[in-house]
Amino acid sequence: MKGGTFSAVEHIFPKSQKFLTGRFNRLVQGRLWLQVLIGMVLGIGTGLLINPDTGFVSKPVANGIGEWLALPGNLFLAFIQMIVVPLILASITRGIAAATDVRQLKSTGVGLAFYFVGSTIVAAALGVVIGLTLTPGNYVDRAVAPAAELAGPVAELAAEGEARAAKPFSLVDLPTGITELLPTNPLNSIVSGDMLQIVIFSIVLGVGLLSVPPQSSKPLFELLGSVQEICMAIVATVMMFAPVAVFGLLAQAMIKTGPGVLTGLAAYAAVVVFGMAVLLVFYLVTALVLGGRNPLEMLRSIREPFLLGFSTNSSAATMPVTVKTAEEVLKVRPSLSQFIVPLGATMNMGGTALYQALATIFMAQLYQIDLSMGMLLVLIATTVGASIGTPAVPGVGIVVLASVLSSVGVPLSGLALIVGLDRILERFRTSLNVTGDLVACVVMDRLVPAKVSRESEIRSAAEREHIQETRNEDVVINSRGGH
Ligand code: ASP
Repeated sequence: MKGGTFSAVEHIFPKSQKFLTGRFNRLVQGRLWLQVLIGMVLGIGTGLLINPDTGFVSKPVANGIGEWLALPGNLFLAFIQMIVVPLILASITRGIAAATDVRQLKSTGVGLAFYFVGSTIVAAALGVVIGLTLTPGNYVDRAVAPAAELAGPVAELAAEGEARAAKPFSLVDLPTGITELLPTNPLNSIVSGDMLQIVIFSIVLGVGLLSVPPQSSKPLFELLGSVQEICMAIVATVMMFAPVAVFGLLAQAMIKTGPGVLTGLAAYAAVVVFGMAVLLVFYLVTALVLGGRNPLEMLRSIREPFLLGFSTNSSAATMPVTVKTAEEVLKVRPSLSQFIVPLGATMNMGGTALYQALATIFMAQLYQIDLSMGMLLVLIATTVGASIGTPAVPGVGIVVLASVLSSVGVPLSGLALIVGLDRILERFRTSLNVTGDLVACVVMDRLVPAKVSRESEIRSAAEREHIQETRNEDVVINSRGGH
């Protein structure tokens, strides 16, 4: 390291997304959200036209067309999934290791834990209250409620959910449960894609990096920086295909399910969508009160990840765009956004919590089971835990719902009724999950005092970038108080 201005290593900031993803800027200028919205509308329209129920094409032909239409979308998702594990690992570790001081890191961690758990409890409670007030179960013909016999794939799903269901709470088993949260073999967690364990490992690694002298942490810090940069470059390229991908994914979804899934369940679907709207209002109010953001501005700023969450059914696949939005549109400090979003995508799922609570109340009404006050509290607690454990990928939320149902003693056979509709309702809850992560960013950005401003963080990254380019040298800048 040379040059008077750049002294010995003290603090390192994550690279600004601006430098990671130049191409993203061009996409934003090209209004990616609008292209995605157009892709969605065209996809839904095309899918409904091809759906066998409309009678233009036979079922096998429609399914075949659907598979081909969805090909770009499935490739798109596969590319993003390919980089999600390394990106989460690199972002969380660097986000922690870049903390300006350990006290600030602690207050961010504690504040974030409060926000995640608090807002998820509110979401689950909203699900319960809305379910009890609007009673969607009473608007469904009870004759359609499937008998206790489960068959085919739904039986498998129910069995998987039951297996996951929490065993009765036991103080004796608790220590083992806590120990099992920690990955004893991190590589194993990476191979099996266990996000919660990967997140915990990343946090431990980040804290470890913080505790060693900068000379020792620098190589790994730089390596993780490269991983992050490469992952974002891949995402930036792949994102150019988002509108086409979204078109095909939604077309196939409509060919497979169509409006038929709503038969007899329209009231339930309407109540779920209403619940999500209420949660959105709650998030916007939180962003206003705790984050000082104008609700309409906030809504406009988050439209891109919101729509992508809806189209991909996955908060994990949306994560790179969520990070970019937090930093570039909402102007959150990179050191916070790159740490909060990956963590939130894995653990903070308000939409899922609301849905699981509401769906359980719906099923209980369907089977005329009265849930006592105590049972409702158990339901809220179970849902909060279950939503944290729900993977941020498509199609697994319903399995976790099965585990919630069995923990409160509601028959799983009702799953057969909602399984088709779930793929549509999942889109709404995924968009809300993504919104909750962005609100966490603006809240923490306001509440965690900035030792170093956002501009300064970005400037440091730019200076470092410049030195690396001009001198072909690795450099770490001491950004505190103007190097
Ligand atoms: N697919 C949702 C997500 O990725 C999770 C869920 O199914 O509830 O956020």
